[in-house]
Amino acid sequence: MYISLYRRYRPQKFSDMVGQGAAVSVLRESLKEGRLGHAYLFSGPRGCGKTSAARLVAKGLNCQNRASDGEPCGECEACTAIAQGEHLDVIEIDGASNRGINEIRDLKSHVNLKPLSAPYKIYIIDEVHMLTEAAFNALLKTLEEPPANVVFLLATTEPHKVPVTIRSRCQHIPFHRISMADMVNRIAYVCDSENISADMEAIWEISRQADGALRDALSLTEQAVSLGKGSLTLESVKALTGGSNRTELEKWVKNLRIDPKESNAALHEMLARGISPERLTESMFAVFRDMWIFSLWGEKGMDALEISEEEGKFLKEETPFWSADKLRSACIFCSSLLPRTRYGMRMEVFSGLIMLELTKIIGYKSERAGTDQLKNKADEVAVQKAETAKKEAGRPGPVSDRIPSAGSIGASAGSCPAELSFDEIEDPDFARLLSKLGRKGTSIGAALLNCGIVADDSGWRLGSDRQSPSLTYLTIPQNRKLLSKAIEEIWGLRDPSAEENIPAVSSSLPFEDIPADDESKTKGKHSRGSIVADTDRIIKLLGAEVLYVKDMNGDNGTDDFGSADL
Ligand SMILES: [Zn+2]
Repeated sequence: MYISLYRRYRPQKFSDMVGQGAAVSVLRESLKEGRLGHAYLFSGPRGCGKTSAARLVAKGLNCQNRASDGEPCGECEACTAIAQGEHLDVIEIDGASNRGINEIRDLKSHVNLKPLSAPYKIYIIDEVHMLTEAAFNALLKTLEEPPANVVFLLATTEPHKVPVTIRSRCQHIPFHRISMADMVNRIAYVCDSENISADMEAIWEISRQADGALRDALSLTEQAVSLGKGSLTLESVKALTGGSNRTELEKWVKNLRIDPKESNAALHEMLARGISPERLTESMFAVFRDMWIFSLWGEKGMDALEISEEEGKFLKEETPFWSADKLRSACIFCSSLLPRTRYGMRMEVFSGLIMLELTKIIGYKSERAGTDQLKNKADEVAVQKAETAKKEAGRPGPVSDRIPSAGSIGASAGSCPAELSFDEIEDPDFARLLSKLGRKGTSIGAALLNCGIVADDSGWRLGSDRQSPSLTYLTIPQNRKLLSKAIEEIWGLRDPSAEENIPAVSSSLPFEDIPADDESKTKGKHSRGSIVADTDRIIKLLGAEVLYVKDMNGDNGTDDFGSADL
């Protein structure tokens, strides 16, 4: 039968344990001096060796020829049986699937029986935080008066969920996330022992993806090796993790500076391969953070980074082109985007936001603004804006004067959340709105670009009722309240949904090119101001072309970034 790499390389001795020096020496010393407690709580991230350590303790207690330094022999009957999970006096319980009181009662019914074949009876309860309250209470009594020769080893990834009454009766041994260096060494060792030819960059990529869990790292190694027909290559790791790797992202960052169009295409390709926006944002953050640290402290700072030689080379070559401030802003942007990716975000919106914000941060627009191509586009946009303004001017009503136009708020899309400066926004009213919103100015402003605001005599409402991440974001009560307060303070407009508890969106989205008469016929109300998504800016920035224009008449939503081929 085939045994997986992880099981084959599971530590058989304390000295095999990877990266848990402190925990291991406490346990081994206690075994050596014969003063092991009757209950332990092992806590730490998943895959870092808690269960392996528990089995080693079981071996250490029951081994027939334990060495003087506390190491089990690994060869006697007891050691072999424990390694295979077949020892009658070592009982492993998965707390996640045996979480009820009946399972614990069952345990208590035989806990007082003498061990069958070994000096000690050992209970290993994995994921102990999953037990129910009643089960914990039942367990507590046993922990208070434990029978002689019984040892409880509880393991958990979430020690704070274990009741304090249980924790206080155990010796708590924290296990740590395995460091990149330890992980890389272990994978290299396993590959070497298995005669697998391994690419160092692939090993680093696996270690990074495994995020401190050696078990994950070894199973990923195994899959990549079988995909790579016996050898471990970066290509097969990339294929398995379904997306970007560090090397690819480094190239992407470099292109962001020299050729954003190329960078934009690469971003789409990565997303198309199936990497999640959340994961991608985290990886981008890591690259920018490493560059930022390098820009501040140079090679001295590199010691603190968990990076390979190749990655170090990238930092030395690329970082000089970036200022520490730009890198810091990029980091802050990525971290502010992260919670939004968890709401679920359409691919185009995600990539649009990334390109808009990051090109703004690195000042790409100002460097290229002088080129003829962009200048022509900018002129076209200016003409369109002038026409829009003319149309607006022809429409009566005081509200439209007070609500900013679509063109004027476009400038906010590229503003950096790190700086929270709205100086560049042309429309002073919109700038005031963003400032009023304070810390959330940029994120709410960006969401408003997608939804728009409609104002009439009864107050204001959001312009789009189509489900979108922007709408979800704006209807979060906290954000909605903040926005209502700011709009009321600036323009004196009420938020009807706040008082009448009606849905916070209008029944249809009016567009500036719909004659006011038609609107009043269908809705019976005048809607005199609106903000719609500003694709002009994106088109201008990325040099995209308009492929088709969607007929919005009768449609009740905007197509986010849909008219520009990004
Ligand atoms: Zn032994």
